[in-house]
Amino acid sequence: LVRLRARLARSQNSLGKGLLTLLSRDNLDEDTWEEIEDTLLTADVGVAPTQELVERLRERVRVLGTRTPEGLRTLLREELLTLLGTDFDRAVKTESGLDTPGVVMVVGVNGTGKTTTTGKLARVLVADGRSVVLGAADTFRAAAADQLQTWGERVGARTVRGPEGGDPASIAFDAVKEGIAEGADVVLIDTAGRLHTKTGLMDELGKVKRVVEKHGPLDEVLLVLDATTGQNGLVQARVFAEVVDITGIVLTKLDGTAKGGIVVAVQRELGVPVKLVGLGEGPDDLAPFEPEAFVDALIG
Ligand code: GDP
Repeated sequence: LVRLRARLARSQNSLGKGLLTLLSRDNLDEDTWEEIEDTLLTADVGVAPTQELVERLRERVRVLGTRTPEGLRTLLREELLTLLGTDFDRAVKTESGLDTPGVVMVVGVNGTGKTTTTGKLARVLVADGRSVVLGAADTFRAAAADQLQTWGERVGARTVRGPEGGDPASIAFDAVKEGIAEGADVVLIDTAGRLHTKTGLMDELGKVKRVVEKHGPLDEVLLVLDATTGQNGLVQARVFAEVVDITGIVLTKLDGTAKGGIVVAVQRELGVPVKLVGLGEGPDDLAPFEPEAFVDALIG
C-alpha cells in the first residue's frame, strides 16, 4: 500500500503542487483564480465541479482571511474531499448474503483494463481467504479468455470459459453455476466491451445480466474506465450506464496520468463511487479508492 501511495503521489503531484503554488501567491487576484480553474480543468475535474470548488475556496479564503501555506493547504484539502464525496460506500460488494456466491460483473470498453482488473481483484479476494471462480465471458477479444485463465492460475482461481466466439451469456451462466456447485465465495465475470453499436452492447450485457440473475442477485457491476482517456471515458461511462446499472467504478492507469480529476468527473456523471483504482500492470497494483489518501497524494 505504501508503494501504491508513492506511485499515486508521483503521478498526481504536479496537480496538487500547482494548486498550492498558485494559492500561495502574494496576490490572489482574478488572474490567479482563473489559473487555478485552468489547472483543475486540465486535470479533468470537469467544468461544473471546478467552478464549485473555486467558488467555495475563494469565499472561504476571503471570509477567513487565510494566507498561511498551512491554512491554505487545509482549506484546499477540505474542499477537495468535499468534491470527492466522503459519504459514499466504497466497499466492493462480494457477498450475496445468501448461501450462494457473491457475483460481480466487470464491464467496460476493451483496452481499459477489464481483464487485468478482474485478475487483480481475484488476487485480493484469494489473499483474503475467499475462493473465487472466474467467468471468461469476453469471447469477442480472442486472447481475453487465455489472459484471464493465466491470471486465474497465477492467483489460484478456477476459470470457466467457452469456445472462442461463444455466447457470453451462457459462459456467465456456467460460471455462476460452477461457483454454486463448488461452494465458491465469489464469482467474477469478465465481459466483452465492444462499443460498435449501443444496441449490440445492450443486448449482450443485458443478456449476461439476465442469465446471471436466474441464479440469484448480481451483487456488483463494476465499470472499468481508463483514467488516461479523459472526457472520452465519460462518454463511454454514459453509454454503459444506460445499458446496465453500474454500482461502482474502477479507474485504471492512474499511474500513467496526472489527470486524477477524472475521479470527480466520473462520479458526478454516474452518481456512483469510484471503488478501486489501478496503479500499474502488476498483480498488486489494485487499491481501494480512499479519498483522504488520494487528496494527500495530490497536495503532498
Ligand atoms: P481489457 O481489454 O479491458 O480486458 O484490458 P486489459 O486488461 O487487457 O488491459 C489492457 C492493457 O492495460 C494491458 O496492457 C494491461 O496490462 C494494462 N493495464 C491495465 N490496468 C492498468 C493500470 O492500472 N495501470 C497500467 N499502467 N496499465 C494497466
